[in-house]
Amino acid sequence: MKQLTLFWHRRDLRISDNAGLFKALKNGTNVQPVFIFDTQILKHLPKGDQRVLFIHQTVSELAAAYQQIGVSLWVFHGNPLELIPALVKEHQIQHVFCNRDYEPEAIARDKAVYEKLKELNCTFSGSKDQVIFEKEEVVKPDGNPYSVYTPYMKRWKENLTDFHLKAYPVEKYAGNFHQDEKAKKPIPSLAAMGFSEVQTQDFPSVQIPSSIISNYQNTRDIPAINGTTRLSVHLRFGTISIRELVKASLSNEKFLNELIWRDFYQMILYWYPNTIHNAFKSEYDRIEWEFDEHLFQAWCEGKTGYPLVDAGMRELNETGHMHNRVRMVVASFLCKHLLHDWRLGERYFAEKLLDFELASNVGGWQWAAGCGVDAAPYFRVFNPTSQQEKFDPKFEYIKKWVPEFGSDTYPEPVVEHKWARERILERYKRALKPTSE
Ligand code: FAD
Repeated sequence: MKQLTLFWHRRDLRISDNAGLFKALKNGTNVQPVFIFDTQILKHLPKGDQRVLFIHQTVSELAAAYQQIGVSLWVFHGNPLELIPALVKEHQIQHVFCNRDYEPEAIARDKAVYEKLKELNCTFSGSKDQVIFEKEEVVKPDGNPYSVYTPYMKRWKENLTDFHLKAYPVEKYAGNFHQDEKAKKPIPSLAAMGFSEVQTQDFPSVQIPSSIISNYQNTRDIPAINGTTRLSVHLRFGTISIRELVKASLSNEKFLNELIWRDFYQMILYWYPNTIHNAFKSEYDRIEWEFDEHLFQAWCEGKTGYPLVDAGMRELNETGHMHNRVRMVVASFLCKHLLHDWRLGERYFAEKLLDFELASNVGGWQWAAGCGVDAAPYFRVFNPTSQQEKFDPKFEYIKKWVPEFGSDTYPEPVVEHKWARERILERYKRALKPTSE
């Protein structure tokens, strides 16, 4: 067997414009791509998890794309901490390449892999691929990270050059792939990994009409129409290159700004991993949240009697997606109207969203609860009724997801808006009052 260089695909399930893959091919010969269905992640997921199905389909497509250029993608099911060093030993590999991931658990895993490979005299190097700017690339003049979006976004734009958007020409070094028909391995089936093959949700297409981006400022806030790209799941698993998308969005500032929010939250998670569990503004952890099983269930099931909230939750439960405007409304409603801890809502979204992304989810929830970086001020309590009047005035979105709306079977509101608003303002004020010491 020839000596190989390994490229480990994780959240970058594509060949073209893949930074880490390009570097592996440029630096080494016989580059063997691998993907691992990570048992440490999969063990927490239910049998019917649609994200696992999405990944399985995507990995199968990736394997087919590799096959067309005479390369076989090796796909394993197991613990990367054991599998990667085992491959390194078996093939006397000296270099393993990947793209960086900024979630704390992924950082810890990669550090452990790095240590193990070091003992085997093998290097392990990551590249920036998921974002345009990472870590300390966009920071304040004093070197500290930004915690307010607008100055971050301005600095992000000032720093952007053609270089940052240049595609990595993987095809230029395609001759450096490991090509050996005999080395082919079958992809483990979903059933063998304990998951269902039944697809219950539609997966958004990676191909979008260019009009969505050109009209984005007019359509982005209307949940009844297809006015946003639905590319979040593709950005999450790297089936689209962020460089390619940013290039396509330079003509629409509103859209570009959303992609910059994504970089912003990734940067915040990198610098402040404790925000997964704690409020960015620590004084907000003094808020006395309540918990009422009945109310929480009503929120989860979309039976609160507030139709925009209910439509959003039912869309989420049925499709794994929810429109951004509605995500803001339902999140604010859970925290501010129902006085439930943002962490409960964050976890519920994490279970249900096809595009679940820790950085954006925690960022979005802390924004809604008022406790995050650059969050909505605590006294801004979204009124779900006026939000509906503004963004779904003809009840089109609502009727799609809540067919019984307007009939006797539709529930009465679980809380009264004015009363709930006063209650939360009082609760927040009490928690945020400076302590006497
Ligand atoms: P588009 O409007 O087409 O935007 C294009 C891309 O820009 C999105 O795909 C996404 O990558 C990025 N983007 C847009 N808005 C935001 C934003 N506010 N913050 C960060 N990135 C953004 N997004 C996720 O990808 N995963 C999550 O788990 C997630 N959880 C959220 C939870 C809450 C409470 C809130 C308020 C927002 C959350 N978002 C999350 C952000 C946003 O709602 C989704 O990215 C967006 O709805 C995805 O739909 P789209 O691809 O059609 O977006």
